Amino acid sequence: MHCREVEFYWREFEVEVLFEGIHMDEMKETGEKTDGAEVAGSDVTRRGFLKKAGQGIIAVNAATLLTGSAGAQHVPDPPGKKLGWAIVGLGNLSINEILPAFARCEHSKVVALVSGHPDKAARLAARYGVSPKAIYNYQNYDSIRDNPQIDVVYIVLPNGMHAEYTIKAHQAGKHVLSEKPMANTPADCEAMIEAAQKANRKLMVAYRCRYEPFNQEMIKIARSQEFGPIKVIVADHGFSIGDPSQWRLKKDLAGGGSLMDIGIYSLQATRYITGEEPTEVNAMMYNTPGDVRFKEVEETINFQLRFPSGALANCSSSYGYSGENRYRVIGTKGWFELEPATGYRGQRMRIRRWDVTEEKDIQPVDHFASEMDHMSQCVMKDISPLTPGEEGLKDLKVMMAIYEAARSQKTIEL
Ligand code: NAD
Repeated sequence: MHCREVEFYWREFEVEVLFEGIHMDEMKETGEKTDGAEVAGSDVTRRGFLKKAGQGIIAVNAATLLTGSAGAQHVPDPPGKKLGWAIVGLGNLSINEILPAFARCEHSKVVALVSGHPDKAARLAARYGVSPKAIYNYQNYDSIRDNPQIDVVYIVLPNGMHAEYTIKAHQAGKHVLSEKPMANTPADCEAMIEAAQKANRKLMVAYRCRYEPFNQEMIKIARSQEFGPIKVIVADHGFSIGDPSQWRLKKDLAGGGSLMDIGIYSLQATRYITGEEPTEVNAMMYNTPGDVRFKEVEETINFQLRFPSGALANCSSSYGYSGENRYRVIGTKGWFELEPATGYRGQRMRIRRWDVTEEKDIQPVDHFASEMDHMSQCVMKDISPLTPGEEGLKDLKVMMAIYEAARSQKTIEL
């Protein structure tokens, strides 16, 4: 099985949840997360899952026969009003996650696609019931203004293109959901916010973890102070990136390296868990000498944050280490953590009270359906999104300070 770095990195979590109830650690898992590498053992793992999942299906059917199915049926309501969405950029995230998620949306439907690849766009339009007349490219993008079916535009392009296509969408009178990081620079974020205000349209940043119940529960526990005041947060996000020619390794398209792409999850977690803004930043950076992937952007960056309450955070972000995706919040009476923490699915929560550790079970949701429906509802009810443009700008400012701290080897005050 050949894998691409980001895709595979998240796919591990997909496998885990597809066959729910069977944990990865029960499986023989020897796969390494490297681009284009043969993943030893992953077929064995999948077969193991399928065998066990097959037993699961039998068990469910038997239970249905015993209890009778009619009484247990949940008949859903007819669909309410759905806003029309245009997806801009048909790459991995759009194809594998966003477009399929519309099937689970209550308030959002896809009505338009924007792509530089007409064949790909036509195939996806046919699959998702989008009219061929609602396929746009980057040259005629501005004409989305003439399509009243489009309410919201979702920007899923390389980071360095978010600002331009967000601003154009606002100028066309549309609401915008922009992927993270919001843009390459705080100045671009400010221009996006200004464009939204000028057009009187909503602007949201796609911080999907804010719209899923595991991270929401972590926030709830933190706010309850059940474990006492937060002393330290440890957060690690990274993977080994592959193809050296990809846009994620180009400074103009990515804005930076691992921090902008994946380290941002560590930063976000520290901010939403504390509910505070950092006041001081330290950082250290490392690029493996001679590694062609890291000519323009950083490989690994470790950073520390100080929060007003006294909480400190130790974070790492890397394009060079094998997959890490976790954060732990340590209070005076115990700790609570997610690992995986911020993947598309498969979150697991553990809690340690004094010397007892337990795992907390929560019903998962589709992150993308949840965040898109949140945006649609904000538009319908005319309320501000939970993660507006201003939230993306805050992260950009801290990330710039992290880079500055690493370059200057000095503590940066915010
Ligand atoms: P991708 O490379 O798979 O897709 C990018 C798309 O942009 C492709 O369809 C490509 O053709 C198009 N494109 C247009 N102009 C381009 C240019 N000049 N150079 C390169 N591509 C160009 O990337 P992706 O993984 O889908 O990421 C897209 C965005 O989504 C990024 O901002 C990324 O940070 C974000 N993202 C978010 C999550 C999340 O969980 N929220 C996950 C992955 C990616």
